[in-house]
Order: sequence, then structure tokens, then C-alpha cells
Amino acid sequence: MSKTYEIAVFSGDGIGPEITDPTVKILKNLSESSSEYALNFNAVEAGAAHYAATGESLPAQSIKTAKKADAILLSAMGLPDVRYADGTEISPQIDLRKQLTLFAGVRPVTVRAGQNCPLILPEGKEIDFVLIRESTEGLFHSQGCGEVTKDEARETLLITRDISEKLFRFTFELAANRKKAGRGPGRVTCVDKANVFRAFAFFRELFDKEAEQHPDLNADHAYVDATALWMVQKPWDFDVLVTENMFGDILSDLGAGLMGGLGVAPSADIGLEHAMFQPCHGSAPDIAGLGYANPFAMILSAAMMLEWLGIKHDNDALIADGNRLRSAVEATISKGDVLTRDLGGSATTNEAATAVQSLLELEIA
Ligand code: ATP
Repeated sequence: MSKTYEIAVFSGDGIGPEITDPTVKILKNLSESSSEYALNFNAVEAGAAHYAATGESLPAQSIKTAKKADAILLSAMGLPDVRYADGTEISPQIDLRKQLTLFAGVRPVTVRAGQNCPLILPEGKEIDFVLIRESTEGLFHSQGCGEVTKDEARETLLITRDISEKLFRFTFELAANRKKAGRGPGRVTCVDKANVFRAFAFFRELFDKEAEQHPDLNADHAYVDATALWMVQKPWDFDVLVTENMFGDILSDLGAGLMGGLGVAPSADIGLEHAMFQPCHGSAPDIAGLGYANPFAMILSAAMMLEWLGIKHDNDALIADGNRLRSAVEATISKGDVLTRDLGGSATTNEAATAVQSLLELEIA
């Protein structure tokens, strides 16, 4: 009998439910046509609208369901007009990242032939690299605790041995899996500012230690400023990049820009026990309810979830379906005849998701 994986689904705010529904529908179709695995979806309450209605943004029961699940699928949360009493934004996804110790923020950057990209790629070149952003410490460690006096402001960056070791182990394993799948040469680049800051020299030292355990992979270093330049000049050269939280925050938006926008940029936040998959974009309240939000980033995040579950549970069917789903979205983007408005088309959310589903079915037929 095939194993059933429990998926906690946070539909979230704004365009969240609109992009979650067709994504879950595609996942259900995949699951129902597989004899090797099954997915069971559990809707979980959280977010700004939930806070406005109940006074709670992330109920204890929701955390419990998320912790019990095999994976978490989340759309986007937060609304500009709904805030805590102290004026800060409601972002349960950040709370989940901390509570579940999801230290590795995985941001794939992919541009296939035919895909709209602000760069003109040389003939035959495609972009396919992964940026891994440490997501629990770095400069964000001092979030909400910075000191400000009349004349000075101070924030503290934290790099710990414990999290860095876990982060680098995860990074090298991911590079090895990409190499095994034929998606990369097995090259890992540590992105830092070790020439100026001692904290980054420490970060790099721990990276080098982990690199020694992987003689079959190539490890190198790059300064963050040079990396920003190369992401524009020769992004096809990268394979796997790993960096600190704040640097990763900035570089991942540059990566989304290379892909043609937030509507096609997926992400995952992964720890040792748990993992959460969500698009890079927010709840896009300006277009919520209009029916033309782009579902591709959410569907690509769901594809990452299948692949991650497959690797974790040694289930080749899940890995294969994750790859098929990613390829179906990439092919839909490359074909370019069914695109939502943010990509220059006129398709609705459901039409875009249906185009992906049709390609999946074509492949099965
Ligand atoms: P957050 O701070 O929560 O990440 P944000 O304020 O940076 O959110 P988003 O909610 O991501 O911003 O929206 C930024 C812009 O991108 C908006 O104009 C929004 O409409 C657009 N956008 C974001 N996601 C999508 C999507 N899936 N489809 C179409 N447009 C989108």
C-alpha cells in the first residue's frame, strides 16, 4: 500500500486562496493517479484576515497541525491595513520559520529558452541555479531588538556554528542531489564579505570545513557585491549559492527579477524536521479577488514540495512527479500563449493553472 503524506495548507490572505485552490487541485490529480504515494490536505487557519476576525494570527492548533504534517504548503500572508497593536505587520510565515527552525531558505532561479528575462541570454544558455539563504539568524537576528538613541542606531548580526554547520551540510547535499539529477555540475559557492567582517570569515571557515567532506563537489567563495554583478553578467555560471540572511534577502529578489517577476519565483524554507513551501511574493492585495493572480510561483513551490518529500522518504515517484510538475510550468511559461497579466498575457489564474494541468495530462497520454 502506498504511503499517505499529510500536507498542512495555509491559504492565507489576499490572492492566497485564489492561487492555493488550483495548486491543491493539481496536486490532488497527481496523487490520485499515483499508486506509489497519496497526499492528504489539511486546511489550516492563520494570517491577517484571521487575526482581524479572531484576534489570533497563528492559533496554537494551526502550529500543532503544521508540526504534525509531513510538509507545509503556504501561499502568502499579511494585509497592509491589518496590523498588531504596536503597528508591526502580521506575518505568521516568519513566526513559523522561527518556531520550526527552518534555517535554509531555498530560492531556485530558472530561466528556460523562450522565457521572458530582462537579460538577453547568449544562444543556447539557460539559467538554472539555487540560492540558499540562511533564514533564522544573520542580520535578521536583531529584528525588533535594534537599539536606537538620539544619535545612534545599532543592529547586531549573529552567525552561529550550530546553524551554519546545518546550513552547509544541507547545501552540499542539495548540490549533490542536483548533480545526481543532471541539473548542475556540483559546484557550491559561499557568498560572504569575509574580506571586511570577522563574522563572515567565521562563516567561510565553517563552509570550508563542510566542503572537505565533499571531495566530489567543487567549493568556492565569492563576495556578495561581486555576486550581484555576476548575477547580471553571467548568471548561467552559477550552480548552488549559500549566504547569510540579509544578503540572501536582497539577492533572492534579484533572482526573481531575472526570472521575469515575483509571479514565477518559488521558494522553500527547510529545516531538519520540517519544511514549508511558498511563493516568494506576498499577498498582492492590490489584485486580490480579481481572478488574474499568477499561480505559477505557487505551483512551482508545490513541485519543490513533492521533490523534497521524495528525497526525504526515498520515494522516486514523488521526485518524478515534482520534476514533471516543474517542467509543465516551465513549458507553459516558455510556450507563452497562456500567461497572466504580470507576464504580459491576459489569462486568468484558472486558465494558467489549467494550461499546466493540460500539459501534465498530455505527457501521461
Ligand atoms: P510582502 O511584503 O508580503 O512580500 P509586498 O508588498 O512586497 O509583499 P507583493 O504582495 O508580493 O508585495 O506584491 C508586489 C507586487 O507584485 C504587487 O503589485 C502585486 O500585485 C504583484 N504580484 C505579487 N504576486 C503576484 C502574483 N502571483 N501574480 C500577479 N502579480 C503579483
